[in-house]
Amino acid sequence: MTFEQLGLTGPLLNAVAGQGYITPTPIQQKAIPLILDGKDVLAGAQTGTGKTASFTLPLLQRLAENHDPHQKPHCVRALILVPTRELAAQVHESVKTYGAHLPLHAEAIVGGASIGIQTRQLRRGCDIVVATPGRLIDHVQQRNINLSNVEILVLDEADRMLDMGFLPDIKQIMALIPKKRQSLLFSATVPNAIKSLAAQMLNNPVEVEVAKQNATAENVTERVYGIGREHKRELLSYLIGSNNWKQVLVFVRTKHGADRLEKQLIEDGIRTVALHGDKTQGARNKALEYFKAGKVSVLVATDIAARGLDIDELPHVVNFDLPQVPEDYIHRIGRTGRAGLSGEALSLVSPEEAWFLVEIEKLLKRQIPRVADTGYEPVSLKVMDAPKKNAANKVTGKKDFRHAKKPAAHGAKAADSKRTDGKRIESRGKGRSGSRGKG
Ligand code: AMP
Repeated sequence: MTFEQLGLTGPLLNAVAGQGYITPTPIQQKAIPLILDGKDVLAGAQTGTGKTASFTLPLLQRLAENHDPHQKPHCVRALILVPTRELAAQVHESVKTYGAHLPLHAEAIVGGASIGIQTRQLRRGCDIVVATPGRLIDHVQQRNINLSNVEILVLDEADRMLDMGFLPDIKQIMALIPKKRQSLLFSATVPNAIKSLAAQMLNNPVEVEVAKQNATAENVTERVYGIGREHKRELLSYLIGSNNWKQVLVFVRTKHGADRLEKQLIEDGIRTVALHGDKTQGARNKALEYFKAGKVSVLVATDIAARGLDIDELPHVVNFDLPQVPEDYIHRIGRTGRAGLSGEALSLVSPEEAWFLVEIEKLLKRQIPRVADTGYEPVSLKVMDAPKKNAANKVTGKKDFRHAKKPAAHGAKAADSKRTDGKRIESRGKGRSGSRGKG
């Protein structure tokens, strides 16, 4: 199967060849012909499957086919809504790359960037807008953008948009777009909330799915390290240092936790940068740029900041904290093992997090292999009590144990353990000894 056989033509084939793509990925094989044919599509495709190109390439071709070069100024003909600024930047980049040989202009409209500059860009005119919902609505309210000519609407990572509470914004935006349009909905998972959004948004959609729902990427090796909370940082430094890892994405739960771990790893002599929602857009872009360019080895990120990041050949993902919403585990480890490459996803799990692990494994319907010898005295990840039943997330309906009482766990005391293999994490910073006790 080639891109040509999918119905793509000259300029797009050149752009694809320029990226070095030879064979379309499964989602591209399924979605591109349908979208070229004008169909509405509900696609269950996880990140890393080539989903961005699967909607961007046919979208560009359709716009180019009906492009009137004399129409002035360009009006917004395609709107791509995404949950985060980082994903907007990436999708915008893809649109520019794949559309390099076409007379179409795209802008990214996201929070955290100057609204004045965006206003000027929008008033100059553009054919395609990639936007986060909140900032788009700001521009709608200020009458900087007219959505009444939109022909194609895309919702990318729709499940995450709902998780982030964007449903009212999405509905508001949909009301401003002509009913006669093509709509595409991409989502890593397809829970009931997405099905009901699809029913409102899509017209007679064709459903395509490439990865089994709630499956994780097959070429990712997953491992759980049962470890006392206070030893996590030391173990992480050890794993990075002893394996000479050059590019690791580390997930933590909180912004504060991200800043703290960044500082600690730097103290351990590991080049690290943190990425979270409290950083300015400039700092977030810089963090990502440094990480992608290999100027830092570790990117410590919260879930929202890391959503949708596309980093070529990312080999290692570490869950320093387990996510509290089980689906986030799948999103997180989807950062590695992308486009057919192999990857490694390690989770450092303390006894306090045992319940989150239970919920994740319930979702995966399998057990994640445990590392027998972590180098520390073993801790038990068995749980004693079920958390309270009413801890469901009201917005998504997903189970969310954030507010549940933490169950007692066997072996919590063993968390005071020391490394049993005599290994010590020697600081690679100036004259510090081990980092013990600061995790
Ligand atoms: P995505 O799922 O859209 O985030 O894409 C994941 C990665 O796959 C990106 O780095 C793309 O550049 C890459 N990619 C997309 N399509 C192909 C393809 N047909 N062949 C090889 N790599 C691809």
